[in-house]
Amino acid sequence: MAVFSLSDFADHEQVVFCSDDKSGLKAIIAVHNSNLGPALGGCRMWPYASEEEAVRDVLRLSRGMTYKSAMANLKLGGGKSVIIGNPRTEKTPALLAAFARALENLNGRYIAAEDSGTSVEDMKYMAQFTSHVSGIVDKPTDGGTRSGDPSPATAYGTFVGIKAAVKAKLGRDSLDGLRVAVQGVGHVGLDLAQQLKAAGAKLWITDIHRESLAEAAKVLGATVVAPDEIFGLDVDVFAPCALGAILNDQTIPQLKASIVAGASNNQLGESRHGLELMKRGILYAPDYVINAGGIIDVYHERIGFDRSALVGHVEGIYDNLMEVFERALKEARPTGEVADAIAEERFMR
Ligand code: NAD
Repeated sequence: MAVFSLSDFADHEQVVFCSDDKSGLKAIIAVHNSNLGPALGGCRMWPYASEEEAVRDVLRLSRGMTYKSAMANLKLGGGKSVIIGNPRTEKTPALLAAFARALENLNGRYIAAEDSGTSVEDMKYMAQFTSHVSGIVDKPTDGGTRSGDPSPATAYGTFVGIKAAVKAKLGRDSLDGLRVAVQGVGHVGLDLAQQLKAAGAKLWITDIHRESLAEAAKVLGATVVAPDEIFGLDVDVFAPCALGAILNDQTIPQLKASIVAGASNNQLGESRHGLELMKRGILYAPDYVINAGGIIDVYHERIGFDRSALVGHVEGIYDNLMEVFERALKEARPTGEVADAIAEERFMR
């Protein structure tokens, strides 16, 4: 299989293939760019159908982390790792230890955090073998402490980002009475919906997990809709907080919302869908700009946690988005394209 010639290879500095016979570890660590600092990004465990699929995924994701961290003004580069395997049946202590030793061998060029298929507990376990893991430290909150899980910071950053989008598109500061459709009420979506409700927004929610949806509906007093109904609702904001590629040829024509702003990664099916949203007058908050709260949280854990510094940094997502929106309007370009240009100005030398 060719690697250098893959379009996703896109200037990667280093790609490391790791294996360990005893534990069955097969993993790939990709460092896209370290101009601004060590590469930090999640470690995903997934039963990829082929090695090629795993390579493509890690390359695409690590590049995205370079843009996300640069945009969030972090002294971090972009990287990601994938472990090939089913996290429910193949994740063993021996496998995690072998992966942690592979991280240690990279001497901090790449730092791992939790992602799909890995947890705070997994990162804590790996921390016995390497210092190059993050998302493991309990953090103070208003009323107590929370775990190293960065989801609350992601949800808060997304809430702040929705405020920026509402200001830019609708010219208002208050979210009172704002109509928002939230797709996915998992870790981030539910927390975001609670903040929106507290700010006076009117909510519609959906999820494919029935119990989560019923529980969320009770907590939020929101209107529940079926998963395929969430796109066409007569709302102000569509907030995707479930999965990627949900802005595509089938869903975009259904949208009545004038703003798309949510936490999901890789929301655009293809980059041309950003242009399609612009043509329809829909303001799109680029996913990696609005959902950077999590990486900001993990970064602050590494530089010595200070709650007010973290909150201030997450709230910077407002200004980052405003810069993107204003420049996109001035240059008549899709917001995603403009965000990429700004990120490149920050990390390219
Ligand atoms: P999660 O798994 O806790 O929640 C996702 C929810 O979406 C689940 O309840 C799931 O049942 C639901 N869902 C899946 N497919 C759906 C569909 N077709 N329709 C409706 N609901 C569906 O994940 P999370 O941590 O809340 O993350 C949500 C999104 O935000 C993901 O795309 C993730 O990559 C992104 N993100 C998360 C973080 C973080 O800190 N957790 C950071 C950055 C980006």
